[in-house]
Amino acid sequence: MIIKNVRILGGEAADIRIEDGVIAEIGTSLDGDHVVDGQGAIALPGLVDLHTHLREPGREDAETVLTGTQSAARGGYTAVHAMANTMPVADTAGVVEQIWRLGQEHGYCDVQPVGAVTVGLEGRQLAELGAMADSAARVRVFSDDGKCVDDAVLMRRALEYVKAFDGVVAQHAQEPKLTKDAQMNEGVVSGRLGLAGWPAVAEEAIIARDCLLAAHVGSRLHVCHVSTAGSVEIIRWAKSKGWNVTAEVTPHHLLLTDELVEESPVGSYNPIYKVNPPLRTHADVEALRAALADGTIDIVATDHAPHPVEDKETEWAAAAMGMIGLETALSVAQESMVDTGLLDWAGVAERMSAAPARIGRLTGHGRPLEVGSPANIVLYDPTARTEIKPDMFASKSRNTPYEGISLPGKVVATFLRGKATVLEGKLA
Ligand SMILES: [Zn+2]
Repeated sequence: MIIKNVRILGGEAADIRIEDGVIAEIGTSLDGDHVVDGQGAIALPGLVDLHTHLREPGREDAETVLTGTQSAARGGYTAVHAMANTMPVADTAGVVEQIWRLGQEHGYCDVQPVGAVTVGLEGRQLAELGAMADSAARVRVFSDDGKCVDDAVLMRRALEYVKAFDGVVAQHAQEPKLTKDAQMNEGVVSGRLGLAGWPAVAEEAIIARDCLLAAHVGSRLHVCHVSTAGSVEIIRWAKSKGWNVTAEVTPHHLLLTDELVEESPVGSYNPIYKVNPPLRTHADVEALRAALADGTIDIVATDHAPHPVEDKETEWAAAAMGMIGLETALSVAQESMVDTGLLDWAGVAERMSAAPARIGRLTGHGRPLEVGSPANIVLYDPTARTEIKPDMFASKSRNTPYEGISLPGKVVATFLRGKATVLEGKLA
């Protein structure tokens, strides 16, 4: 198969020949039996998400491995890490193997399960980390995401344990007592609206503690969904010490602020904007963008968190926290980072494909688009523009925060080891 006329990382137009799922040749005027016209689209390595909620098993009303990986493919992803907060929790070899196999069977996107750090996400005893690492799913990322491993001794033990198999603990940094009943970012807007605040210090205190623990133990720490300027400063300091700390930011924290809770295209107090960690201030958004640009924050991770309508379209206090994001992530990255001049497309490829694959130890993903690499490729048209409507997505859920907003760019095609999962913007 030949993909004609694509601009690799936004460079000069070229053709890519794919044979047996691998990039066999890159050149001009290549010919073959089966030709896909790239129409001048940008070619990036297939995106890798380190933070996806697929909801299966247990909440198939919100998402399944099938619909979640279809959503991922539509967003340009060829691999996603499935978070462990399913029902049952992914805290045993049996559950992670089940999720991994479902991904293989459906074939839209590789599914790499994340293992829970503690049994049942209950924060009391370590889960079978070694058994999950040794399973067919070869788990390397462990997280209680949705909950914080707030017990310092347990966190230390988890960091020690994962060293044996080069694993990483991905922490959802939220000091629970500082965020009890919290509804949105603690600040000027929460004060005006009378909603209980989620202070920045609740995130920053845990990140600081965990950086110190990771350094003490000599282990790998990954910080999920960094949302405050103060967190960026702490991570910058930890990296300056040479400690093995990586961090992610979500698309929504790169673009949206807490002011949307007060006034937005979909009204005020709309729980579509309720998310954990909460949307923060303009100053935080600016700091997060700068940190992603300078490498303090390593990657963009979606925190794709599907919820059924009845869990979101309710009063603010009762609504579930979370937003879907797989199908808009690349567009939001373009809007916030590329169109602002902060990153070029090579920078996007590093932060949305190469680096997340490295952190997750996925050897078959995130490789440069060169001869010999697996043909995991996304073709993206940055000149397109779309007004977002909740019913346009492959995800089973509709809780997008971008309704009524116009975003740039469109995923034209996605290839997983040479097989098209998306063509002409539609599932293949
Ligand atoms: Zn989380």
